[in-house]
Amino acid sequence: MGPEKRELYRLPWSMNDNPIAWLELTDICNIHCDGCYRQNVTGHKTLDQMKDEVDFFCQWRNPDNFSLAGGEPLIHPDVLELVSYIATRGVKPVILTNAKALTPELLKDLKKAGVAGFTIHIDSHQERPGWIGKSESELNELRQKYADMIADEGGMYVIFNSTVYPSTFSEIPDVVRWGQANIDRVHGMVFITYRTATLDDSVAMDALDRDVDISKLSYTRDSFDEEFVTSPQVYELLRREFPEYDAAAYLGGTVKHDSFKWLVGAQMGSRHKVYGSIGKRTMELSQTGHHLWTGRYLAYLSASKVGSKIFLLAPWDRTLRQAWKNRLAYLLRHPLSLFERIYIQSIAVIQAPDILPDGRADMCDSCPDITIYDGKFVNSCRMDECRLFGGFVTVLDKDEVTAAKN
Ligand code: SF4
Repeated sequence: MGPEKRELYRLPWSMNDNPIAWLELTDICNIHCDGCYRQNVTGHKTLDQMKDEVDFFCQWRNPDNFSLAGGEPLIHPDVLELVSYIATRGVKPVILTNAKALTPELLKDLKKAGVAGFTIHIDSHQERPGWIGKSESELNELRQKYADMIADEGGMYVIFNSTVYPSTFSEIPDVVRWGQANIDRVHGMVFITYRTATLDDSVAMDALDRDVDISKLSYTRDSFDEEFVTSPQVYELLRREFPEYDAAAYLGGTVKHDSFKWLVGAQMGSRHKVYGSIGKRTMELSQTGHHLWTGRYLAYLSASKVGSKIFLLAPWDRTLRQAWKNRLAYLLRHPLSLFERIYIQSIAVIQAPDILPDGRADMCDSCPDITIYDGKFVNSCRMDECRLFGGFVTVLDKDEVTAAKN
């Protein structure tokens, strides 16, 4: 199930040459999401501490953008100074936010400070005041509010994230349909499949084989009886509902050869019609071309504002050629569409870490969301294990441990 890996481009990112630097301003948040992996332990970082992290990332990571995350970064009192500091270093500051604190006034100030864009996380498991109990489809109204606010201000891009639970899997097409109808103002959508560790059937140990209490982590549940959604399942659903969509690139897992941890595609179209997607060759040319030109890889293809010029690559890219044919066929039937603007909109699926039966975690190979803890790079999704237990923990099935002891 899922795409063939050889039909996709393996993103060329690595530990030291990666377009994304994940910098957390705070571990305090103004709402509570079911899928969140950050505990409130230390509060806001100081501006000096964050500037040191910026310098560290610039020295060791070669980022094209900073993902300013949390907690909720917009409640940090120094967010504008930090954005400005990053922008003056020639790197794009991007805010990862639930947007609850985002107002038109703050947006103006952030733009003035140099923010490049936003990744806004909205889904139906957030305990968001005023939106509790709403479906993903009903939440499109809230997504629209922020998409319009950012488009009206202009000059910044916006991507919408949501965590996918077994119960919301079938609602993904509602979000994509909304995104396609707003392709002129929504630059991408990201679907992150929910994962949790459970307490009922597992034991956890630190690096010294001491038992640890993983109920202290925000991403553990007493039990979880449903089947986790996988990225190939999301891919299949997207292909079924939106035949014009296709994936073009991936990151695999650190343990399992057949994992699709990041599955990335980009569709292209106008406000009235989506013509198709780019293929692996265009993705490869974009990454290597950007690296040749700027010395850095690219995090968001849609941010490059290439529009219909991308069709120039059609001779080298089978998937893009099909999109171009679809565009020509549509033009013949609707000649006025010649004047429509063409937009690119990315769709990414991220499959969060999977705990394997032997206790290892299958992580994202060349993890793009690495952050800094104690002077070292760590995967941001597991940093709380370091903060609470001094390092990553191993989670094993209780029955298997008992059997091994007997
Ligand atoms: S391994 Fe990295 S990219 Fe993957 S979910 Fe964790 S932090 Fe995100």
